[in-house]
Amino acid sequence: MHFTDPVYRNPYWPTWPLIQITQGCTHNSCKFCTMYKEVPFRMQPMEWLEEDLKELQAMEPHAKTIQLLSANPLALSFDRLMPRLELIKKYLPELEHMYTATRVSDIKNKTVEQLRKLKAIGVNEISLGVESGDDWTLKRINKGYTSQDILEQCRKLEEAGIAYWVTFLNGVAGREHSHEHAVNSAKIFNQLKPMLVGTGGLTLFPGTPLLEEAERGEFTPLTEKEMLEELRTFVENLTCDCKFITHHTIAANLSGPDFLKRKPLILSTLNDIIQHGDMDALETIRTYKRTL
Ligand code: SF4
Repeated sequence: MHFTDPVYRNPYWPTWPLIQITQGCTHNSCKFCTMYKEVPFRMQPMEWLEEDLKELQAMEPHAKTIQLLSANPLALSFDRLMPRLELIKKYLPELEHMYTATRVSDIKNKTVEQLRKLKAIGVNEISLGVESGDDWTLKRINKGYTSQDILEQCRKLEEAGIAYWVTFLNGVAGREHSHEHAVNSAKIFNQLKPMLVGTGGLTLFPGTPLLEEAERGEFTPLTEKEMLEELRTFVENLTCDCKFITHHTIAANLSGPDFLKRKPLILSTLNDIIQHGDMDALETIRTYKRTL
């Protein structure tokens, strides 16, 4: 198989089989991310794709799911993407779900009709690393799109019947804008119908512009307690009828379906952690993190 490091697979989807159809990330300049810094974006050569599919066909002839790699395969235009998906389907005809992460901006150059065709071939669930619905924050972290883009592109996915996830990156606005980040992200998500809202906590990794800004005193990271308080504000304001997952180190048990039904429990658990949790232990756990 032709994989280019780093290989990131979403742990909430079946993590095998995988197929790489693009390398790196078209944007590669979010201020908190170094994941694909050394990997220029390019399409995987067709010959590699076909060789990989022959291997997969031998190993997993009845595969029902596959994850498409890497950061944002849907950046390819419809005309480039579709022949690749058709090739995948030719070798793995029983596939029902082609899962992939992608950027909000990757939906822009596709019509609803084209998105419907992607759904028909199996791209029926995608994950969008939105991170924030607050325009100040989106600009601050150089995400490359606005809250209006999020609304417009996600609505196209809804029209096409493609289920999607959106993420909230806890802590990424720093202390300066924490409240607005939480409230405005919930406001934008509430206008949409994501099947899942996911939250991760910001860790400042070496080599990221955001860490350099923090070292120069231009960005004030939240303490672990402030992260939890921001997460609580986000949850208080969120009204989406969806699944909810959090990668927060201590709050993993808050993940599950039926967010609205579980919201009071999530909030009381967060309150309890904020009042009685061991913040030193949380800080120590964060130092071991290697991905968001
Ligand atoms: S966070 Fe996602 S979109 Fe931003 S640079 Fe990293 S991989 Fe690319």
